[in-house]
Order: sequence, then C-alpha cells, then structure tokens
Amino acid sequence: MNENDLVELDIENFSNLGYGIARNDGIVVFVEGACPQDKVTAKITKVNKNYANAIIKEVLFPSPNRIQPFCAMQKVCGACQMQFIDYDYQLKLKKQIVQDAINKIGGLDIEVKDVVPSPETKEYRCKIQYPISQTKVSGRILAGYYKPQTHEVVNIKHCPIQPSICDEIIEFIRNKAFDFGISGYIEKTHAGDLRHVVMRVSKSTGKVLVTLVTNSKKVFERLEDFAKCIYEEFEKVSGVCVNLNPKKTNVIFGDETVLLAGEDFVEEKLLNKTFKIGADTFFQVNPKSAENIFKYVKDYITDNFEEPVILDAYAGMATIGICVSDCAKKVVSVELNKQSCEKARQCLKTNSIENIEIHNFDTAQYLKHTKRKFDIIITDPPRKGSTKEALDEFLRLGKKELIYVSCNPATLARDLKYLCEKGCTVKSIQPFDMFPHTYHVENVAIITLPQS
Ligand code: SAH
Repeated sequence: MNENDLVELDIENFSNLGYGIARNDGIVVFVEGACPQDKVTAKITKVNKNYANAIIKEVLFPSPNRIQPFCAMQKVCGACQMQFIDYDYQLKLKKQIVQDAINKIGGLDIEVKDVVPSPETKEYRCKIQYPISQTKVSGRILAGYYKPQTHEVVNIKHCPIQPSICDEIIEFIRNKAFDFGISGYIEKTHAGDLRHVVMRVSKSTGKVLVTLVTNSKKVFERLEDFAKCIYEEFEKVSGVCVNLNPKKTNVIFGDETVLLAGEDFVEEKLLNKTFKIGADTFFQVNPKSAENIFKYVKDYITDNFEEPVILDAYAGMATIGICVSDCAKKVVSVELNKQSCEKARQCLKTNSIENIEIHNFDTAQYLKHTKRKFDIIITDPPRKGSTKEALDEFLRLGKKELIYVSCNPATLARDLKYLCEKGCTVKSIQPFDMFPHTYHVENVAIITLPQS
C-alpha cells in the first residue's frame, strides 16, 4: 500500500478520534468521514509504520446509519466530525470508544453503561471562540473556525450547535467593525486589531457575554465605541469586554481583560446553584449535559453516604463541589488556577455556602501536606488525566470511594489500570454525551478504594 493508492475498504469500527477503521493488506487504515458498515473507495494519504490514513473518494454502499448532516458547513468546518451519523448510533459508537479504551488500554473487564444522551443536540454549545481575520482585497471581517489542519478562517454565518443569538452577534460584528475602523487580525504579519470573538451564553437567562480579543496593549477609543455599540444593539448581551493580547501566540487570551459595557459575567444555574461566569473562566461548555453529570454524582452520594467529607480535586470554580455541597459535611476544593479560585469564592457568597474550603494549589502538592482524610474523592482532571503522584495521594487519603469524572477515555483507562493494580475496584463506568456530533465523550467512573 502506497500514498495516493485507491483502495476499496469495508469500515469495521470507529476510532477514538472519530475516524472509520478498516483493514487493507492486514494494515489498519483510518478513514476520515467514514462510518462503520460503509463500503468505500478511499485514497491513501499517508502510510506509517503500523497504520495508514485515507480519505473517502466514493461511498459505494452507505452504512444504514448515515444521514444528511444538518449543517451545510459540516465538511469544511471540521468541528462536528460525526454529524453525518444518526444521533442514536453516535451514542453507540461513543460507548464502543469507551469500552475499547477500558479493555485495551485499561486491561479491565468491565462493561461500560449506555451513554446518557445530551438533553440538547443543537444549540448546546455555550462557549464560542471564533478566530477573526479579514479578506485580502476588501478588508472585510472573516469570523468562523479554522479549516481543519490549517489556520485559514472559514467564514461561518450559521452554526446550528450554538445558540442562534451568536450568529446574529457575529454577523453584526462582521458588518459593523469596518465602520469603527476595526480590522481583522492577519496571523502571518501579526497585523490588524481583532483576533478572536469569544462568547459565553447562559442557558438559564439567555444572556451573552461578548469578549473582543484584540492585538493591542491598550484599549483605544474606536474599540470602546464599538463595544458600546454591540452592547446597545442586543438586549441579550449582558456585557462586552476587551481582552488585550498583543503577543505572537496561538493562545487565545492575553493577561488583561477590561470591561467596556454592561457586566463582566453571565449567570448560569445548575442544580439550583448560581454561577457567575467571566470572560476567561473555565465552565462546562454544555451546561444541560453537565447538570446531568453533576446530578448523577450528587444522587450517588446521597444514596450511599451520610454527611461525607469530600475532596473536589481539579475543581475549576468548584462547580461540582458547590453542586454536591448540600449532601456533604464538608467539601475541600483544590484548583491550580488563581482566577478560578477567586470565582469559586464569589460563588460561595452568591449561594450562601459555608461548608466549602477553596485551596489554590496543585492537587498532589496540596494533598502531600494535608493531614485530612476524605470519605469521597471527586476528581475531574484535564484531558491528560491525573498524575501518578495525585493518584497515590488519593489512595493514601481516600477512605471509601473515588468518583472520577473524565473527559478523555484513554487517560481514564490508563489511570483506572494504575488504581486497580493498587487494589481498587471499579464499580461502574457511566458515559455522558456532552458534545453531540463530535467524537468527545465524558465519563463518570465510581471506584472503591482498597482501605474500605
Ligand atoms: N471540575 C471543574 C473543572 C474541570 S476542568 C468543572 O466541572 O467545572 C479541570 C481543571 O483542573 C481546570 O480548572 C484546571 O485549571 C485544573 N487543573 C489542571 N491541573 C491541575 C493541577 N495539577 N492541580 C489542580 N488543578 C489543576
């Protein structure tokens, strides 16, 4: 098999990164945009040592689970890799992705539960980060997503997975920026004003916080006028901020955020608790699905424990800790990011919660120096999973159970393998769909610690 070969393939499985999996000459081929049970003609794009990559040239026999994507931009934009697959079947594939990781990476023989669907499969994405550029000749603003594997901005007029108000705000910015002399950012030359537009939408109030990320060291008058104009145009816009990011970097946010109109947050409600979300605060992207996850965790604790002492590790703005605080004696929240800890402290005041401690620390470092023990440890690490150091501390300080909330099945499986080698047992693994039409899948694993 060589690059550019045309081969006929039967798609047998689905990979954790959203590719169809087939075999050719005994070699695994990952096929972009393919669904299990498709028969396709594909062009080999790359041959590696143990596998090859391919793209579809023609679908010879479509899988019965193929559907027409509801977004016209699905192929160009690349954010919704699975939108051409029926939603129920997406959930089956995601379950398989988790099951494969648990069996193959974790070496564990545990049956994963059916995936809990997202309450909404459209307009669910409440955090929008559009890169901005401009057309070469007319200098008109382009706003959308990067074409896959490039930094070329695809202008997106309508995105059905985010609240429709976002389309209106972006269109207004596209059309009006020129009038205020605000240009789009050109990455190659590091020139132009507007680098990103970031929006955070609240599902409970419908309000939107808009942040204009600019390539400047200071706020300038035209920018201030533009921000006020956006604020006045939309009743649903709670505030407009500017984030200053003059560095040559791919990181979206710079260090300083300035409020130019309205308020610098939107309020979201989860399990009757109120969260004030700022421009660059981490908060779950699909609040309704997140609420399902947190309810699952809370119900489990209520049904199995009485007034436990809980550790909420990798806590963000203590979202999970706050949601479970009603059924806990005490919650100890540990989070590395200073701003998130500040937001968490504000949240405690807003919700009149007195049984949560906020610690601004690395998880393992904090635990090494505490004398406390915890009935339940809740851990919700980033995609790279927990460190061994942190897992060792959980084993040392956890009295009964560990509730592992994960956004990456592969690192969850790796960490479960380690914990099981140290004497833990995995009681259950419950997947949740937080990002319909993408290959992402969240999981809650409940683990019994060896001491109990
Ligand atoms: N549980 C939260 C946030 C989860 S995201 C929620 O549901 O909203 C993971 C969080 O882990 C981020 O807020 C990140 O800042 C934090 N983090 C990353 N590395 C960390 C570490 N070593 N120690 C503590 N927190 C860390």
